[in-house]
Amino acid sequence: MTFKSTSIGFIIAIIIIGMLHTIFGISLSWLVLPAGVYLALIVYGSASIQSSFYAQPYCYANVSEKEIALSFDDGPNRQYTPQVLSILAQYNAPATFFVIGKNIQGNESILKQIDAEGHSIGNHSYTHSFLVDFKSVQGFKNELNQTAESVYKIIGKRMKLFRPPYGVTTPDLVNAAHVLNYSIIGWSIRSFDTTPATVQSISRRVQTQIKPGAIILLHDSSDKTIQVLQQTIDFAKDNGYKIVSLEQLLKIKVYE
Ligand SMILES: [Zn+2]
Repeated sequence: MTFKSTSIGFIIAIIIIGMLHTIFGISLSWLVLPAGVYLALIVYGSASIQSSFYAQPYCYANVSEKEIALSFDDGPNRQYTPQVLSILAQYNAPATFFVIGKNIQGNESILKQIDAEGHSIGNHSYTHSFLVDFKSVQGFKNELNQTAESVYKIIGKRMKLFRPPYGVTTPDLVNAAHVLNYSIIGWSIRSFDTTPATVQSISRRVQTQIKPGAIILLHDSSDKTIQVLQQTIDFAKDNGYKIVSLEQLLKIKVYE
């Protein structure tokens, strides 16, 4: 199911109702039905990155080896990113950090540390604003370019991965990402580590979904993440899983 096939289906439904109206005189109020379904599918397709509605984001890898990747959104964060880095170093596990541009100022040394310790950095927009999804193609390009510029100034690398804020994709967002040559990265396991749920229930939710090729979404902006991360890595190791980088798992380039 894609935006295109949904739109074609909607148009066909309108034509059929129009024909039935002309031939058999059925009420045009039947148009409410396809319109409602169309709207519902658009809302679902935009909100769920795994639906691949507008784009083909990478949400997992099709592999049989027991390999998984870790990703952290919404940093850099003065309090939590260093703690996440220290656990990753302790376990020798690589990860990808999808950073918000406006969080970089004042946290340049943390960004440098992420890079120096062998982790990857991806783009997670500049503002991460609640209304970001109403932006135009140009608006999204500005979001991506501003963050890319800040990161380039600090680590001298041009990012190629983009994780949409809130996992919401819109046609304009996808368009901007394509024009700027970004790969859109989703996830297969959403931890909900920023919700009021307990560490125990978050860890359990993550663990029950782990399978070969999984991409786990965590946030280096929440105190629960630190414990969840530790428990997740322990569980993965105990069950024979190897934590690999996103680029190794997906066989894609992280930087230009
Ligand atoms: Zn985010």
